[in-house]
Amino acid sequence: MDDIKQCEMPGFGNGIKMKRSHSITMIEAPVDMKTRHQTRVFVNRSLHLEKVKYFGFDMDYTLAVYKSPQYESLGFNLVVERLIAMGYPDAINDFEYDPTFPVRGLWFDTLYGNLLKIDPYGNILLCINGFTFCKSHEIRALYPNKFMILDESRVYVLNTLFNLPETYLLACLIDYFINSTGYTREPTGVKCGDLYMSYKAIFQDVRSAMDWVHIKGSLKKDTVNNMEKYVHRDERLITLLERMQEHGKTFLLTNSDYDYSNKIMEFLLDFPSSNGTKKDWTTYFDYIVVDARKPLFFSEGTTLRQIDRETGALKLGMHTGPILEHRVYSGGSCDVLSKMMGAKGKDVMYIGDHIFGDILKCKKIRGWRTFLVIPELSQELHVWTDKRTLYNKLQALETLLGDLYRHLDSSTKEKPDISKVQKGIQEVGHEMDMSYGLLGSLLRSGSRQTFFAAQVCRYADLYASTFLNLLHYPFSYLFKAPAMLMPHEATVSHEESPETLPEESHPIFRQRTDQNEAVVQNKRSRKSDIHVPNLFAETPCHITHTHDEDASDTEDSGSSGTSIAMDKNNDQDSSFY
Ligand SMILES: [Mg+2]
Repeated sequence: MDDIKQCEMPGFGNGIKMKRSHSITMIEAPVDMKTRHQTRVFVNRSLHLEKVKYFGFDMDYTLAVYKSPQYESLGFNLVVERLIAMGYPDAINDFEYDPTFPVRGLWFDTLYGNLLKIDPYGNILLCINGFTFCKSHEIRALYPNKFMILDESRVYVLNTLFNLPETYLLACLIDYFINSTGYTREPTGVKCGDLYMSYKAIFQDVRSAMDWVHIKGSLKKDTVNNMEKYVHRDERLITLLERMQEHGKTFLLTNSDYDYSNKIMEFLLDFPSSNGTKKDWTTYFDYIVVDARKPLFFSEGTTLRQIDRETGALKLGMHTGPILEHRVYSGGSCDVLSKMMGAKGKDVMYIGDHIFGDILKCKKIRGWRTFLVIPELSQELHVWTDKRTLYNKLQALETLLGDLYRHLDSSTKEKPDISKVQKGIQEVGHEMDMSYGLLGSLLRSGSRQTFFAAQVCRYADLYASTFLNLLHYPFSYLFKAPAMLMPHEATVSHEESPETLPEESHPIFRQRTDQNEAVVQNKRSRKSDIHVPNLFAETPCHITHTHDEDASDTEDSGSSGTSIAMDKNNDQDSSFY
C-alpha cells in the first residue's frame, strides 16, 4: 500500500513536496474525479453535506456567470463613455479592455494611484503605477518595509469580478495622465495648468461612473437584450436544483432587483425539468429574496416587502406573515429570513462569488456554511498542471541550492556562489507569474499566498470554479479538509528513520504511558498525604479534541457555534485592515 500521498497543497516555491501519511490522509474524492480536478470541490473546513438543509444561492457571477471578456469589455466601454460625458478627455476612448492585465483582489492605493498585490499580512508583492511595474527600491520609497495597512479611507479592495474592468481602467487613466503632454506628474496626482487632479479624485470618478453604469446606465439592459452573448447557461443547473430540493430547501438571495433577476433566471432555467415540462423558474427555489443589500442583509438588513410578480412592483407595507414558498420578496434581513425558514446557522450552505459580501459576512455574523465560487480557478488549475515543467525546474533549482550548502557548517569560511541559482529561481518564478496573466495569479506569488487566497482559506468552507461541481458528490458526502502541514511536517516523512539524539538533548516525552500512569495511581492511593481535591488530571478515555468543524455539531446549537465566537474574537480585520 502506498503510504505517502502527494498532496495538492501549494508549496512548490520552497522546494517542498507536500506529503501526507495515512494517519492524516483525507477522504479521497470519488475515484473517477481524481484525474478530473476541474470538476472537484476543494475543502478548507470539513463539511458534511448530509447536514445541510438549506442551499442558498447568490445570482450574479454565481448562478449567472458572465462571459469573459465580452461582459467586462461591455462594462469597460460603458464606464469610459460615462467618464467622457463627465468631462474626461475623448482620447480615453482609444483604450480597449485587455483581459490579460487585471487580476481580482488587488488593492488600489488612492494616495499614490498604485495597484498593489498584497500578501495575507500586508506585505506588498507587486506594485504597478499605470502600466509601469515599480521596482523594489521605488516601492520601499513609498511604502516603508514594503508594507501597507488596509486603511479604508485610503485603500479600495477590488474584490469582485465586477471590479475587473475598473481595475484595468484605473491603470489606463493613471498611465494616460502621467504620460500625456500637458500634464505634470505630482506625488499624489497630476497637474494640468492650474488644474490639479488627485489620484483619489480619479478613483472617485471611476467608482461613481461604475455605479452609474450598473444602476442607471445601460449595462443591465444591454445584458438582458443579448443574453447569449453575455451570460453562460448550463442545463445541468435544473438537475442540481431538483436534487437539492429532494434533499432540502433552496433559496435565492441576490442584491439584484426583481426585473433583472427575473429575466436572468428565466434565461438560466429555460430548459425542460426532469419530467420533460418547462416550469416557472421560481419553482426551483423555495424562497426568493431580491434587493437583499448584502452585506447589510447579514446585520441589520432592511424592511422585508413582497413583490407583486404581475407588475414587478413592491407591495405596500412591511411583510410580517410567514415567508411563503415560491413568492418573491425584497430586502429583509438574515434574522428574519432564517426565522421564517426555520433555519439555524449551520443548516444553511450559502453559495456565492463575493468573498466579502457573500462569504465573509455570512460566515462571521451568521455562521452559515459557505461555498465560494471562484471562476478563475479553472485557469489557475490549468496553469498549475499545464506548467508542471516550470514547477519541476523550480524544484531542481532549489535542490541545487541545497546542494551548494551541503557538507558546510559554521566552520566554513568560503561562501558558495548562489547568485546563478537565485537568478534562475527568480526567472522561473517570473515565467510562472506570466503564465497566469500580466499581474500573475489570483491566489499566489511564487511560494507566497495573496491576501485574497488567505480570505478564501479563512472564510470559505468549500470552493470550486463552479457550484455545479456539487453534481459529482452524493448528498451524504463528507467533505474532509486536508491537514494544514507546517514545514517540519511537510518536509519530514513518517518513513524517515528516527535520528539518535545525544543524551543531553533528549526531549521530554509527555505521552502518558503505563509506567507514568502507575506512578500517578501510586501517588493517588496515598490519599492521606494529599491536601488538594485532584492531584492529577485523569487520562481521558473519550475523544477530547475537535479535529474538524463538523465533528462537534452534535453538541452545538448550530446557530452561533464556538467557531463563530472564536472568529469574532480573533477577527483581525478591524484592527489590521
Ligand atoms: Mg455575486
